[in-house]
Amino acid sequence: MENAESLLERLRDRLCDSAMLELAQRLIAIPSENPPGNHYEDCAHALLEELDRLGFSGVKREGDCVVASVGTGSQTLYFSGHYDVVPAQSRDQFQPRVEGVNLFGRGSSDMKGGLAAMIHAAAAARDEGLLNNGRIGIVVVPDEETAGPRGSRDLVARGVLGKDAIGMLTPEPTGGIVWNANRGAITLRATMRGKSAHVGRQFEGVNAFERAIPAIKKLLDLKKEVELRETQQQIAPAAARKSILLLGGRVEAGTNFNVTPDFCSFTIDRRMNPEENLAEEKRRLMDALEDCQVEILQEESAAATSPLERLGVVLSRQITMVTGKAPAFELCPGLLETRFYAARGIPAFSFGPGLLTVSHGPNEFVPIRNIGECAAIYALTAAALLG
Ligand SMILES: [Zn+2]
Repeated sequence: MENAESLLERLRDRLCDSAMLELAQRLIAIPSENPPGNHYEDCAHALLEELDRLGFSGVKREGDCVVASVGTGSQTLYFSGHYDVVPAQSRDQFQPRVEGVNLFGRGSSDMKGGLAAMIHAAAAARDEGLLNNGRIGIVVVPDEETAGPRGSRDLVARGVLGKDAIGMLTPEPTGGIVWNANRGAITLRATMRGKSAHVGRQFEGVNAFERAIPAIKKLLDLKKEVELRETQQQIAPAAARKSILLLGGRVEAGTNFNVTPDFCSFTIDRRMNPEENLAEEKRRLMDALEDCQVEILQEESAAATSPLERLGVVLSRQITMVTGKAPAFELCPGLLETRFYAARGIPAFSFGPGLLTVSHGPNEFVPIRNIGECAAIYALTAAALLG
């Protein structure tokens, strides 16, 4: 590869033109809120138009997902992002606005700023002739915020996710660090049944709340055991290393104080460290809940990629060159789409222009400078792997 500094200069010139910012603004203006999954059609259409305009190959839809590529050859580095956003706190959030050095709006940070960066990074890498030995695959999906069926899961069902992949990057709002791992999740709602009766004749009823107590005791014992397990992945503060069982995030029972409750339901949110096994942890929960009806609200596996994978080393080097600061690699506290790729043995990392601290909030914004830097980092990483 040519001198990296001069390449970076050229990328900086190219990527500070307004097209990338305009794409971010155009996407923010489409209220693709999920739940419930609004305006997916409009968002997919805007993306297809931009990818066509920029001359990508194989621009098409796979269901509600949008795919395209640049470069030639089979080995593919995927840039994958999501176009759904969490519901806005006010409708103003769908009017993107530049204020000083920041771009405000729902999805600016998570992750429409990131989508603009990864798409323009791929186009720049092609135009600069950096892709002599492979392709960048662009994948943009909906349904990420709810782990729904129309996003990456649909690409798995279609047999196209991660085809010929040598790696995957996703521009989630990492705030300057890299997420190389994520926790898994099993979320359940357990319901104990009983029989209602007036307080004066409660001998005729069955108290579902009281019946639920033995199961809750078992879960408390399990929680104690679970919290002794600490991940070896990096995450701050130290208390965040413990595996997680949250009991009773939602609890409901009965109809009034003077009637025996005929049902008692409560949620369990189990977040597993990458070192734990989904099937085994699910079995432990189900054993504790054997007398309850159980509804599975979510079931997702944890994932981890070693920072020492070539993609991790290259990404870290480019981040250091562009930002002047070497990134930490940490465990993401939530779910990440990297899990779909890591589950197939594909190295997958998250790094993006946004900030986790403002994502999903009423004043969501992204520093505009970060969008350009992220694009340069993605283009340089592709060049190092596919050049
Ligand atoms: Zn996101």
